[in-house]
Amino acid sequence: MTVISVVDLKKSFGKTEVLKGINLNIKKNQVVSIIGPSGSGKSTLLRSMIKLEEINSGSIMIDGEALVENGKYAKPQNVKNMIAKMGMVFQHFNLFPHLTVRENLEIAPKMAKMGTKAEIRQRSETLLAKVGLSEWMDAFPGNLSGGQKQRVAIARALMMEPEILLFDEPTSALDPELTVEVLQVMKDLAKEKMTMIVVTHEMGFAKEVSTKTIFMDQGEVVEEGKPDQLFTSPQHERTKAFLKRNL
Ligand code: ADP
Ligand code: MG
Repeated sequence: MTVISVVDLKKSFGKTEVLKGINLNIKKNQVVSIIGPSGSGKSTLLRSMIKLEEINSGSIMIDGEALVENGKYAKPQNVKNMIAKMGMVFQHFNLFPHLTVRENLEIAPKMAKMGTKAEIRQRSETLLAKVGLSEWMDAFPGNLSGGQKQRVAIARALMMEPEILLFDEPTSALDPELTVEVLQVMKDLAKEKMTMIVVTHEMGFAKEVSTKTIFMDQGEVVEEGKPDQLFTSPQHERTKAFLKRNL
């Protein structure tokens, strides 16, 4: 089952076209890694999926429903419902510094009235246990390591029970030893068949965990395929050159 499909998506900032007709399909339970040089449009593509960026033309379908079709967005309430199916994890965590870890998890579901206070509390405790942070529930983000912050951010995204998780370079701001603990949480989610789109520089993760890898360069999807195929026998010169520099 296709959960996200993107058709001929184009996006410009001013006169610069940064996405030049992107086509892609994400199926349920897939872990799709997106790799490519800095500036190739990976973040803009992810941000477009949750309407943090408005596209200029093309379509984005979520669960078969048009978020935007031929450049025209759905009604605000429908847009809201479709975006609610997706959770996003950012490179720089984006936690609320003045809220405790627990409050960071609970604020959005409380505002969305997703269950009673007790149910929301139960869920935040379960998710903090899942990412190994039960003891940090009452701490503030400023007292956590980068790896712990990112695990809080993942738990927070899961609070909203998303169907799809989007990650934008979740480990790029982390030291190698902290990267490992975040990748472990992501591997666990993959094992549980969470549908995930992961923009990453972690070629090891892309190779071992993802079910499909997409290589982007200069606003285009240059090549996509099963990771073992894409990493061992890339078809395009641009893919070969990128992998040579990054493997
Ligand atoms: P990536 O995530 O692959 O590094 P981005 O999607 O961040 O690439 O950026 C793609 C291009 O779009 C880059 O040239 C970047 O400078 C440009 N860009 C991204 N966001 C903006 C913005 N808000 N305004 C103007 N240009 C932007
Ligand atoms: Mg980026």
